Amino acid sequence: MKKPSLEKKEIELKEITGLDLVNIIVKQNYIEQDDIDDLQVDFSSKGFDEAYSILITSNLVTSDLVGQAMSEFYSLNLFDLKSFPPNKDLVKKISYDIASQYKMVVFAESKMEVFIATSNPDEKLIPIIKEIFPDKEIKLGYALPESIEDTFLLYKNNFSDRISDIMSKGEQVVPDIVKEIFEDALAQKASDIHFEPFAEEVVIRFRIDGVLQDIGILPKNFYENIVNRLKVISKLRLDEHFETQDGSIRYLTKKNTTVDMRISIAPVMDGEKIVIRVLFRYVNDLGLDSIGLSDKAFKLINDNLKNPFGLILVSGPTGSGKTTTLYAAIRDLVNSRVNITTIEDPVEYRVDRVNQIQVNEQKNITFAKALRSIVRQDPDIILVGEIRDNETAEIAVNSALTGHLVLSTFHANDAVSTLPRLYDMGVEPFLLSSTIDLIISQRLIRTTCPHCKYSQEMSVVDLKKVVPGIFKVFPKTKINVFKGKGCKECGFTGYKGRTAVFEVLAITHDMKDALADNIKSIQTIINEEEYISMFEDGLDKVKKGVTDFEELVRVVKVPEKFAKE
Ligand SMILES: [Zn+2]
Repeated sequence: MKKPSLEKKEIELKEITGLDLVNIIVKQNYIEQDDIDDLQVDFSSKGFDEAYSILITSNLVTSDLVGQAMSEFYSLNLFDLKSFPPNKDLVKKISYDIASQYKMVVFAESKMEVFIATSNPDEKLIPIIKEIFPDKEIKLGYALPESIEDTFLLYKNNFSDRISDIMSKGEQVVPDIVKEIFEDALAQKASDIHFEPFAEEVVIRFRIDGVLQDIGILPKNFYENIVNRLKVISKLRLDEHFETQDGSIRYLTKKNTTVDMRISIAPVMDGEKIVIRVLFRYVNDLGLDSIGLSDKAFKLINDNLKNPFGLILVSGPTGSGKTTTLYAAIRDLVNSRVNITTIEDPVEYRVDRVNQIQVNEQKNITFAKALRSIVRQDPDIILVGEIRDNETAEIAVNSALTGHLVLSTFHANDAVSTLPRLYDMGVEPFLLSSTIDLIISQRLIRTTCPHCKYSQEMSVVDLKKVVPGIFKVFPKTKINVFKGKGCKECGFTGYKGRTAVFEVLAITHDMKDALADNIKSIQTIINEEEYISMFEDGLDKVKKGVTDFEELVRVVKVPEKFAKE
């Protein structure tokens, strides 16, 4: 057992500061002091949450590692509340007041023992817990403050009751309702918040894991004030009710971290419909190793990112997770020796130490114009949010040709059709072929629910009916796959969360020569060593139990290679 390397008395146990956190992580050897110094942040003025969020967003550690370091420091087990969420009735055995005062929740309970997760371990907790569980042996474990806070949600009343409570107080009603909705959305990791006005009421919905879900209803008579409040905080025109408006919100959370959001307002029959996209939150823990790439795909991408210049494209339809992949790549590239500049519409994630420019048509900042001026600013790596037109495509290719690594997304169905489409846009084949190094394409796919997952034997002969060439990857007659049975956790769908399936195509030197002659020949010259199809990547994820076969064929077309026996 590792001994704590800082004296506990050095740290006032009531409050662990940001500087304490940094010291603990450095002393436990999870981060080098040099890396901390490189950040040039004065941690002595930061609280735990703020310091934590800086460390995570700077990509120096993951939340898991911080949890690990903290629990080692306390010589306690780490209780993973995210992977093993405790049940509501259990959590409620400790009253909310006590739980929030001492930052602790019940993690699990057995006949003889009770397991308490806390972000504030202290001997003083023991008598308090003993009073609630007099007959049990107490096992304390560590959990990060954010997962303790998330668990506190279990104490909350349902949305409508909370909104009624706020309304009955009569002060600050509208700002508090907005705050309540935002905090709910963040706690549930929603990507979008919808306010949909109808004749009598306003429906609030969140998009969680890509699916819209009803959250609750607001009385219509409050709605105008809520719309006004949202317009004020996003600096939009209050007197405009008949035109669409777009703006941005920088929201300061209860945990004192900032979250960027984009708001769009559009008039509908019964008022103004509002959609808010939550942006900043998802930057945490994002890196190429965390987006579901296979080892081979990871290696192909990583190798190409080391090129000092060239063009890397991520293609796919809207909502396929292209931007996430691009940012994961960018975050892996951030270091003190390169300058990274981006031009985006919208800026979906904020990344430390990256110069990010927002497209603004009204101010005449277009992709093409911004890209021209970026090149003059001596960047090493340029991220172009999307190649939408010929002008942007040409400047991107030229920048890649003149010693920059250019990353961008492109709207195409798959990697193989990306080059012919760029060619149709008017980019010279020899320019394209000499710059393009890698094309990634992707789709999002639902993952099997971990709470109700079970193993099932599947006949490959049955699979053959859907995929005639299946024997090429499954030579046996039976395979074991995993499926979700359906449970409360996954809304009885058998799926929870999403990941991506990837097509990765590296363009080798031989291929470049052939492409310069005939860009449309790409399909015929693919080198299998440097290529992974989306379907094969998906099959690999089926084998590993990440998703199931039905979901794969729902999302990804069976390729020609597998269409015949
Ligand atoms: Zn389930």
